[in-house]
Amino acid sequence: VHALPPEDRTLVDGVLAGQRRALAKAITLIESTRSDHRARAQQVLNALLPQTGNAIRVGISGVPGAGKSTFIEALGVWLIGQGHRVAVLAVDPSSSISGGSILGDKTRMEILCQKEEAFIRPSPSAGSLGGVAEKTREAMLLCEAAGYDVVIVETVGVGQSETTVAGMVDLFCLLQLPNAGDDLQAIKKGIVEIADMVVINKADIDPKATAVARAQWKNALHLVRRASPHWEPPVLTVSALQKEGMAEFWENVVKYRDTLSASGEFAQKRRQQSLAWMWQLIEAGLHQQFKEHPGVRESLPRLSQSVESGLTTPAAAAHALLAHLKH
Ligand code: GDP
Repeated sequence: VHALPPEDRTLVDGVLAGQRRALAKAITLIESTRSDHRARAQQVLNALLPQTGNAIRVGISGVPGAGKSTFIEALGVWLIGQGHRVAVLAVDPSSSISGGSILGDKTRMEILCQKEEAFIRPSPSAGSLGGVAEKTREAMLLCEAAGYDVVIVETVGVGQSETTVAGMVDLFCLLQLPNAGDDLQAIKKGIVEIADMVVINKADIDPKATAVARAQWKNALHLVRRASPHWEPPVLTVSALQKEGMAEFWENVVKYRDTLSASGEFAQKRRQQSLAWMWQLIEAGLHQQFKEHPGVRESLPRLSQSVESGLTTPAAAAHALLAHLKH
């Protein structure tokens, strides 16, 4: 193990001491795309790695307006009252595409923000979903090293971001509104399969509709293959605005962790997630190398044209292009 340069040593010590400023700085370092920063970030991460893994990682997803920030704030404040330290991260690839973020740049979670025991970080604007996800995974590890025992990863219900977040957390939760349109959408998108828990928010508005939605969700969850033979995803109802249902939500999170830990699935899920992450990085790296290879860059336009006009088969062109990587 190489000794860290003094600047990074201070950063590592600051993170380990749970200093929010050091944590924020370390996350900024890992989010940087500069190659010298990347190298430093990897060293900092390596130094902190033994102190990671001790949080429960909870993913929360829902359409804009479902009440994610209201819910996470109510839950976060409740958890802090129970003696927890809570980190909130976000995955929002739209922020880099549109320049404006769906999760919102408005000041969110104002009360939670002010708590000493909370750390809130908006989505990195690193570009692709893969890029954002990688930074968020690393930020999650940093939060754990800083002593946050609950890490919440928030995302919007668009595109692939839900699957991506489900792939980095222990428990993935869908935050839903009590109307029937939503659940059908979720079923269509194949989201139900990855939900470990469903929470119907805004139960205060229409208790009757909420009860109907709950029954529909229970049915829907019965129909899909379960991720774990030991866990049937519960359907809870809450009112984030009135801060109701937080204790029950957390009881279920703890029950999930205990149940899956007892069967060995909890640790196994994390091992699988780590390996899958490694492979994603390998694939992304290969892709990058391929596109940057001088031979590929030279022959790609000609071969692309040849495929377009039917003179070369896609397979033959791919074969010829991939052969460059061997040199
Ligand atoms: P997000 O886009 O998913 O983060 O949703 P927000 O947390 O910003 O909430 C959207 C709107 O719904 C806000 O006006 C909230 O005050 C409101 N809201 C959130 N939770 C509840 C709830 O439990 N009951 C009611 N009546 N309104 C809520």
